[in-house]
Amino acid sequence: MQFDTYIGLEVHAELKTRSKIFCICPNKFGSPANTNVCPVCMGFPGARPMLNRQVVLYGVRAGLALDCDIAEFSRMDRKNYFYPDLPKAYQISQAEIPLCSNGHLDILVENQLRRIGIERIHIEEDAGKLVHDNGPDTLIDFNRCGVPLIEVVTRPDMRSSAEAHEFLETLKSVLQFIDVSDCRMEEGSIRCDVNVSLCPAGSSQLGTRVEMKNINSFSSALRAIEYETARQDTLLSAGGIIHQETRKWDDSRGESFVMRTKENVADYRFFPEPDLAAIHITDDIINNERAYIPELPTAKLLRYTTKFGIPHSEASIIAFDAEKAGMFDEAVNCGRCSPRSICNWIIGDITKYLNDSGVGIPDTGITPESLADLGEAVESKVISSSAAKTVLMELLTKGGSVGEIIRRLDLAQNSDTEYITSLVEEIISANQRSVEDYRNGKTNALGYLVGQCMRRSAGKADPVEVKRLLNIKLNNQEDK
Ligand SMILES: [Zn+2]
Repeated sequence: MQFDTYIGLEVHAELKTRSKIFCICPNKFGSPANTNVCPVCMGFPGARPMLNRQVVLYGVRAGLALDCDIAEFSRMDRKNYFYPDLPKAYQISQAEIPLCSNGHLDILVENQLRRIGIERIHIEEDAGKLVHDNGPDTLIDFNRCGVPLIEVVTRPDMRSSAEAHEFLETLKSVLQFIDVSDCRMEEGSIRCDVNVSLCPAGSSQLGTRVEMKNINSFSSALRAIEYETARQDTLLSAGGIIHQETRKWDDSRGESFVMRTKENVADYRFFPEPDLAAIHITDDIINNERAYIPELPTAKLLRYTTKFGIPHSEASIIAFDAEKAGMFDEAVNCGRCSPRSICNWIIGDITKYLNDSGVGIPDTGITPESLADLGEAVESKVISSSAAKTVLMELLTKGGSVGEIIRRLDLAQNSDTEYITSLVEEIISANQRSVEDYRNGKTNALGYLVGQCMRRSAGKADPVEVKRLLNIKLNNQEDK
């Protein structure tokens, strides 16, 4: 029997506020253990939480970016459960009335737009962190207690691990574009749980849903989904039934294990948080936050592929990265060279430089204007493409103007026909053996001769012109 797969995601993202959600402790990653703590986030009896306004504003902004309805009034609730990383024995979250609901995020899968429903976005506090790498002991770091989170809950609209992966990458980049979260996977500032259910192909009745936790990266989400889909397929095909349960994903072993059979929502005994007032969102707040939302990655991706004809794989490298997209859009707006060549510079040499040196675009000396000048210098044949690489390195490491660098390093290209003709004649007479080879059908000898001309001219001869004139001479034709 064939089965259809339905995948839903719950994504937690830490918000980049200066202080925590209910106290004034710094919201900072990497501090010594248990230094960013106070009676409120440590859950001391009698300590009173105060809601950080910025957390609410960031939550509203995320809701607007995902086309959600924003609740005029919402509230915080207590979610009661015991775990050693949660000293209060309850988490302050939102249950019945979330801040945002009923939205969607469009993703591009194989050049097709897919709309993924967002059931809700709510704000809540993070728990502490258990540290297991100390021999048989487990230590607890409470610095993360009270770090503000948004939880984005999707509808089970994704049908494959590839779609889920695309959704995660797109959501991450949206949250970075609207500047509410760093989404640093390696610091755990974005995490996700996945749920998977299978049902007979074509059936409208959703199957039993299994949730998976302990997923630490988008690529392990992909593996966990594939594992769970295969597990349920095997079970159902053999006539078995799927139990509603929560499983723990073990990435090193590539399998999941039953963690607990699904608790009932009633087990958490949610009730309104008595220490906090209702949250009131005014039209002013909404209009203010809307102003922070720029053109989002999927819209950029569509624009780059349809308007500029850039292939999806290359366009997505730029469209999903706020810094690269900013550089690309501004350089294109200068109107001095083709978008295609700006794209090639960004995804090629610039990305390589950023990866090798571990810096971001703002830390380099290049500007959108100088990148546009560089593209123009190549397209108008002022410099060769190899000289352009030298100019680019100067721009990245030191900054400056393209014209000045070309003059200072004497990189201007020579396309003068008379100069190149004499260069070609010189190389032909000095390399008779290659010439013979070429005339005997070894066409790759041409590349060697072009290389010799380029070397003789110290890289300044126009390679296109060199090739053209070499062809003419070698085939004993007249220059027309
Ligand atoms: Zn605190």
